[in-house]
Amino acid sequence: LPSNEQRRIRALDPDVVNKIAAGEIIVAPMHALKELIENSVDAGSTSIEILVKDGGLKLLQITDNGHGINVDDLPILCERFTTSKLREFEDLTAIGTYGFRGEALASISHISHLTVTTKTASSSCAWRAHYSDGKLVPAKPSQSAKPKPTAGRGGTQITVEDLFYNVPTRRRAFRSSSEEYAKILDVVGRYAVHCSNVAFSCKKHGDSGSSIATTAKSSTIDRIRQIHGSSVANELIDFNIEDTKRLGFKASGLVTNANYHVKRTTILLFINHRSVESSALKKAIEQTYSTFLPKGGHPFIYLDLEIEPNRVDVNVHPTKREVNFLNEDEIIESICSEITTRLAQVDSSRTFMTQT
Ligand code: ADP
Ligand code: MG
Repeated sequence: LPSNEQRRIRALDPDVVNKIAAGEIIVAPMHALKELIENSVDAGSTSIEILVKDGGLKLLQITDNGHGINVDDLPILCERFTTSKLREFEDLTAIGTYGFRGEALASISHISHLTVTTKTASSSCAWRAHYSDGKLVPAKPSQSAKPKPTAGRGGTQITVEDLFYNVPTRRRAFRSSSEEYAKILDVVGRYAVHCSNVAFSCKKHGDSGSSIATTAKSSTIDRIRQIHGSSVANELIDFNIEDTKRLGFKASGLVTNANYHVKRTTILLFINHRSVESSALKKAIEQTYSTFLPKGGHPFIYLDLEIEPNRVDVNVHPTKREVNFLNEDEIIESICSEITTRLAQVDSSRTFMTQT
């Protein structure tokens, strides 16, 4: 039996707390990458290049051309709860950026070797800094931890090496790097479809070509074509609905018509420009399509949903993977009924055409 002394309650060491939090936020390389992509988009980038080695476990590198980070902010960049995006709790209801809690880089720095190279427009050179456990560390033990000037273009490059190197149980849980790479491509593909005006590329180290490459100027349909192929892109119908008075939302989407069906539903869902999941929406959409598609057939859905920020609770999950919003059932219902109308229109025009 533990002695009375051993049963005493003690505060956990901050490093232990941080490592636990990091493990909750960053479960797999794709989660680190999602945060990094969102930071690059928040920084106003029009080009985002991603390089991956070993499914992201050996290397995840993201290079953007955004506004960069002020050199004076580099010492606190990776501390927990340091952010340029949120000042007061109330701001959470009006947040226009992806990030807001200042936890991503902190978490990544606790479970990997993190290097940041960044240049703002007003700086004459780029600056490079290395991080561990939320703090600046020297590149080599003999050197100083202070950021060093270096050559570089405007924007930010984040290099994450040896993810989970100090979390052996997590590290061992990854069996195949191609599986992790597939998840990375899924995340990159989602943002590459959604973020118009941003060019994306994603490459596996050692490959000559890119797995994903979109240009900044391409239309959403072309982005879908580049990533999901013509068989999807040629069968899309678009819609736009809004109810800004009562339900406080706008939705637009590109969804496949009744000519297209595959074994599994693909849903690219963005709520206020954040890639999220919603099992309620997925279920309702599959139900909607079931009357139009053969048994076992499923659609492709890209849905861009904007909800008044004060109706959305983005803070329900540490990974921000799910969000809660008011009038969820009614909003889903109006989206599905619009899809039904559009599918029926296409269906009847096709019947009409074959009749004449
Ligand atoms: P959050 O995004 O929640 O603020 P992060 O840990 O993801 O927290 O990032 C902390 C801060 O670092 C951001 O608020 C932003 O100021 C800065 N930052 C991170 N990545 C970039 C980037 N790619 N370009 C410019 N600034 C960045
Ligand atoms: Mg962030």
